[in-house]
Amino acid sequence: MAEVVIVGAGLTGLTAAYYLEKNNFHDFKIFEKENLSGGLLRSFNQDGFTFDFTGHLLHINNQDFYNFLNEVAGINNFFVQNRNSSIFMQNTFTQYPFQTNLYGLPENIIYDVIYGFINRKKNIKSPKSFHEWVLKYFGAGIGKHFLFPYNKKLLSYDIKKIDHTWTGRFVPQTDLKSIIYSALNNKNTKNNLGYNSSFYYPKYGGINYLINKLQDKIKNKINNNFNLIKIDLKNKILIFENGYTEKFKYLISSVPLNYLLEISQDKANTSLQVNHKNLLCNSVINFNLGFNVQNFKNNNLNNKHWIYFSEKQYNFYRLGFWHNINHNLTPNNYCAIYGEVSYINKNYKYRNNLTNSSIKQALEFLNIKQDDIIVNNILNINNAYVIYNNWRQKNLHKLQEKLLLENIHSIGRFGAWKYSSMQEAFLDGKQAATKILDDLNINKNFRGLITHEHKNIAKLLQQ
Ligand SMILES: Cc1cc2nc3c(=O)[nH]c(=O)nc-3n(C[C@H](O)[C@H](O)[C@H](O)COP(=O)(O)OP(=O)(O)OC[C@H]3O[C@@H](n4cnc5c(N)ncnc54)[C@H](O)[C@@H]3O)c2cc1C
Repeated sequence: MAEVVIVGAGLTGLTAAYYLEKNNFHDFKIFEKENLSGGLLRSFNQDGFTFDFTGHLLHINNQDFYNFLNEVAGINNFFVQNRNSSIFMQNTFTQYPFQTNLYGLPENIIYDVIYGFINRKKNIKSPKSFHEWVLKYFGAGIGKHFLFPYNKKLLSYDIKKIDHTWTGRFVPQTDLKSIIYSALNNKNTKNNLGYNSSFYYPKYGGINYLINKLQDKIKNKINNNFNLIKIDLKNKILIFENGYTEKFKYLISSVPLNYLLEISQDKANTSLQVNHKNLLCNSVINFNLGFNVQNFKNNNLNNKHWIYFSEKQYNFYRLGFWHNINHNLTPNNYCAIYGEVSYINKNYKYRNNLTNSSIKQALEFLNIKQDDIIVNNILNINNAYVIYNNWRQKNLHKLQEKLLLENIHSIGRFGAWKYSSMQEAFLDGKQAATKILDDLNINKNFRGLITHEHKNIAKLLQQ
């Protein structure tokens, strides 16, 4: 038995472990189903190229996270860069975000955006969907030309059936002055808008560098190849696929919440028997292609970090450029791109066709021949973007409360079933560790207090 058991050795689980260890609490174990730790922060090496599970860039606006990166991995081991990203539509590259960058777009789009913004539906009191939220704050033009098609493609889901609570820092607001200014000027003063206006990224080793450094601080605590398959809630026992069992007092889980509920169902003594199938998430195909730099001649792409695609003719919602993010990710004189294509619940054949047609579209866009591909690496991200459907909105909070009653902290992007970044994974992990330590200390002090009181009472009785 370990007092605290952590299941999932991604950034969330490892951060929790780091803070337990840092506070001199050692009675914990980590279990991870894969043979490598890191979750979505693993990087893959192929023929001298390094690929992450799509670009994993560190956007930092929290001092605690910055301090943590410095403490664990040394901030000097990261580059920091300002975003250089565009949107490609109507054969034009406009800067990101769309709502403050219209320069170069056809007149009819600029007209729709301005007219739509002026006539936006301010009278919608509390938007019931992302669609309504866009109409209220941005207007029909921005919706029609970018926010609707782009998010539909990103999520592979009907944007009228999702809420807007995820938007926060991911969809920055705009105003009429910025819209008009951006239509008339190529250089917009508001290019630093949004959560990802700058990023840190490791100088060497891809994003996995951070995980390697973090693992070093938690030596001998990670058990790889331990796939959790059942939770006996009544007896607080975890059962793994290899037959191993572990009793816990506190559980920190970053495994996908729908799976956690599924495997807790039978033995649950609380009403956790909900339909976990109502928790929806999409998947992402991540294709990575490497080329000789001579074959990469599109000047519009020089120095670009990534490009967003909202139009239907492209399956992918984003293409990124590894060599511009960090030239150490590709060998000298080579470059590499990544593409991201989302889908929900599709079979292998569908995925295969989708991957092939997406690669074909990417090559056409880049003006590169199939034969020029030197490295081809396809990754499938099974859980990628959480769908904020109505069921989630109504039930997630209750579920989390019930799990907490069982001393289960279900945290991280998929544990807490949310749209979140590495920074939030860190914050979640740190917060869960702190809460548990507080709880344990309170209990210890309380136990101490009781024994002290008991002794006093015993003394009084003896007198
Ligand atoms: C396409 C995409 C792009 C992204 N880009 C960025 C970005 O640029 N910047 C940014 O800040 N964030 C980005 N993110 C978000 C970031 O990846 C996550 O916030 C972060 O990785 C979450 O970490 P985690 O530890 O909570 O989850 P995970 O990394 O998913 O870790 C969970 C761990 O649990 C393990 N596990 C699962 N089931 C079991 C089981 N049954 N038994 C044992 N172990 C199990 C998994 O193997 C995994 O190691 C992106 C996410 C996606 C999908």
